[in-house]
Amino acid sequence: MTTQPVPQTPASPSPGIPPMSAVSGQPGAVTGAQFLDRLRQNPPTLYIDGKRVEDPTTHPSTRNMCRSLAGLYDLQHDPQWRDLLTYEEGGVRYATSFMVPRTKENLHKIGEAHRVRANYGLGFLGRAPDYMNTNVMAAGMGADYFAQGQPEGDHGVDFAANMRRYAEFVRNNDLCLTHALTNPQVNRAKLASEMPDPYIALGVVRETEEGIVVRGARMMATLPIADEILIFPSTVLKENADKSRYAMGFALPCNAPGLSFQCREPIDVGRDPEDHPLSSRFDEQDAFVIFDDVLVPWERVFLLYDVELANKAYAGTDAVLHMAYQVVNLKIAKTEAFLGTAQSIVDAIGSGGFQHVQAKIAEIIVMLEIMKAFEVAAREGATLNKYGVMTPARPPLDAARNYYPANHQRLPELLQLLGASGIIMMPSKADREGPLGPQIEKFLQAGNASAEDRLRLFRLAWDMSMSSFGGRQALYEKYFFGDPVRMHSALYEIYDRSEPVARIQAFLKRD
Ligand SMILES: Cc1cc2nc3c(=O)[nH]c(=O)nc-3n(C[C@H](O)[C@H](O)[C@H](O)COP(=O)(O)OP(=O)(O)OC[C@H]3O[C@@H](n4cnc5c(N)ncnc54)[C@H](O)[C@@H]3O)c2cc1C
Repeated sequence: MTTQPVPQTPASPSPGIPPMSAVSGQPGAVTGAQFLDRLRQNPPTLYIDGKRVEDPTTHPSTRNMCRSLAGLYDLQHDPQWRDLLTYEEGGVRYATSFMVPRTKENLHKIGEAHRVRANYGLGFLGRAPDYMNTNVMAAGMGADYFAQGQPEGDHGVDFAANMRRYAEFVRNNDLCLTHALTNPQVNRAKLASEMPDPYIALGVVRETEEGIVVRGARMMATLPIADEILIFPSTVLKENADKSRYAMGFALPCNAPGLSFQCREPIDVGRDPEDHPLSSRFDEQDAFVIFDDVLVPWERVFLLYDVELANKAYAGTDAVLHMAYQVVNLKIAKTEAFLGTAQSIVDAIGSGGFQHVQAKIAEIIVMLEIMKAFEVAAREGATLNKYGVMTPARPPLDAARNYYPANHQRLPELLQLLGASGIIMMPSKADREGPLGPQIEKFLQAGNASAEDRLRLFRLAWDMSMSSFGGRQALYEKYFFGDPVRMHSALYEIYDRSEPVARIQAFLKRD
């Protein structure tokens, strides 16, 4: 171990984190009202602009996102979508994103459900809860993977059983999860153990009879407006030892004592949805996560100290593939939203007859069809893994998560090229209702629509491509699934090229 955790200390009470068995929620898929009520009862410890957010459901920077999340939960009770967005087991209906796929048909239903949920946010809600639900489902099914790990002390802990129970707990209560994988950026040339303070990176301080005490920080958790945070091992732990205090996997409620989320500057600045159609609804927030000697009860610990086990946890449980499958479906929805918006702009200003305009729309269509093809290939190529889970094929998903970050930025660029000055000359709702209203109505009408409809459309294009919201999306697409540079390297390492190489070698030897 790079640094030995100090030996056990006497047991201390664990204030604030009730045992999972004591959390009695409504079993199965919750409604929006139930989700909001839960947030009010147990608000995550968020800080925005130097102040604690007492109630995220009413705070001006988070309440609209809370409302959007509630809308997503309500969608699963909408008679139109209920059968797709939920499934029944033992007389209870659960969210489809928790469903264990046993067949390709199951996988198809899960993919369609991802897409319906993605369409709710036009694909711009990166961390709708179904993303983490798939992670938890796969980790729960692959729980035996965690059986190899052991704490230092003899605490009678069964990590595999913990993982299995936690997955059930999340599904049964339809909890909303965030996660944080990477350590603070302080110095990427050094190991976590070589930082000025050994607890800049999140590390285990000690074991107690009740659990582990952790200290340090994680760089980023999108959607901190959540019930729980999953601190899962990431594939980038660079410790040069088998055992490390930095290798761990656990879960905590977002209001655990000692845990704080420092949110970035809000993008939702309280403007009318007509003016900021995406920012005012889908600011999912990103937060820096600080652990000030947080006690994690044993039942919530899944992995400790083992570097190799930590580095391979996502691949070892196949969680990465189920998450990537959700992502591909989400990006299909997002690309469709770009296509719909781009075509609406073309129709509004009558530019559809120009060849280069048609070519630009065609570019979006090609990108959309590539993403759809990745989805079909992943689903059709699915196989049962060793845990009995129908698991989407890896190569098309790896290709998708290398392709989309590299090409996504062309989508907002195409909106800018098609919309031109229209994406800047967008008087607000208040302007429209002000003294210049009649002139705005006359001069800013569209070829096929009123000024109001045209401005709503161009404001959507602006929020997709140019606003703070659009800027954050651009960075999100580049990095949310990991560093693109290292993802390319990973693909290089993993992808089986033996057959094409053999064919070329054979060709070279032909007479
Ligand atoms: C909007 C947004 C939301 C996110 N949400 C989440 C979330 O919810 N949960 C979560 O866990 N993470 C989240 N992430 C973080 C994401 O996982 C990381 O951005 C990604 O893994 C890259 O790590 P980093 O940002 O620390 O970059 P760094 O690792 O600091 O990289 C910075 C630069 O240095 C280069 N570099 C660093 N190390 C190496 C190396 N070893 N080899 C080659 N090049 C190197 C990189 O290529 C890059 O150019 C989010 C990121 C963004 C931007």
